[in-house]
This record gives sequence, structure tokens and C-alpha cells, in this order.
Amino acid sequence: MTRISNGENASAVFDLGLMQIQISANTAAERNMQTGVQPTSLTILPTYKCNASCRDCCFQSNPRLSTRLSGKAILDRINEAKAKFPSIRQIIFSGGEALLLKGDLHDAVRLASELGLGTRLVSNGFWGKRQQTSEAFARDLRTPASKS
Ligand code: SF4
Repeated sequence: MTRISNGENASAVFDLGLMQIQISANTAAERNMQTGVQPTSLTILPTYKCNASCRDCCFQSNPRLSTRLSGKAILDRINEAKAKFPSIRQIIFSGGEALLLKGDLHDAVRLASELGLGTRLVSNGFWGKRQQTSEAFARDLRTPASKS
């Protein structure tokens, strides 16, 4: 999948299997200054497995799928992106349901933070049914410890 949109918030997403690179420029001036590829976001789809199976899912994710990146591959891609693209500002984790990776996701969030990168998580929110447990869950993810 490659998505490119024009206008004031141009962005392009290049799908490389289980990894996407998103290139975005917020203004026309910013776009004009760009002479090469300067991605600001790396989107990683660490797994196609999901605990839901929505009829219209663009990846046809479901609980039966097992395709995923290893924890090491995720960490390697983050390190690689940071080294090759100094313009990278944030890592986005999507899927599938990335939270099914548990410790591997925590390790990836921790590495991104250590590298000074922001993180974003796209989740179906299965963990947010009760306020108390969802707050604890979010707190846990904000200060990730190794859970492998
Ligand atoms: S929750 Fe999202 S990833 Fe999971 S099956 Fe539904 S649309 Fe797909």
C-alpha cells in the first residue's frame, strides 16, 4: 500500500511488508525545502494478528494469524531508521493489535524513548474496558520495563 496526499498536510506512506515509512511535510514551504527523502515517522506493523476480526479490516487481521516480526527485528528497524534518517521524530506501532506482543512492544517503546523519539500506538482499545485497569495499563506503557 502506498498512500500519498497533497495539500497543506502532505504525507506519503510506503508499505514494506510489515513496516511502513511515512514522509510528511506540514506546509508548502517545508515541502519546498526538502531536497531528498526526509521521513519524520516510521510506522511498524509488528504483527497482523489481532484479537478482533473486523469484517472491513484492511489487513484482514484476526486471532488465527501468527505473522509477526521478532522482537529483535523490531529493535533493529528502529535503530536502523534512527541511524539512516536523522529526520525521524516518532515511531508508530500499528497492526494487527501491537499490544498482543506484550514485552516485545514494551522493549520497542523503551528503545524509541532512549533514542529521543516519540511513540504512538494504534490499538483497538481492548484493554480499556475498566477505568482503573486501563489507567494502570497506560501508565505501564509510558514507563516500560523489560517484560520479556
Ligand atoms: S481491530 Fe483493527 S486490526 Fe483488528 S481486525 Fe479490527 S480493524 Fe483489523
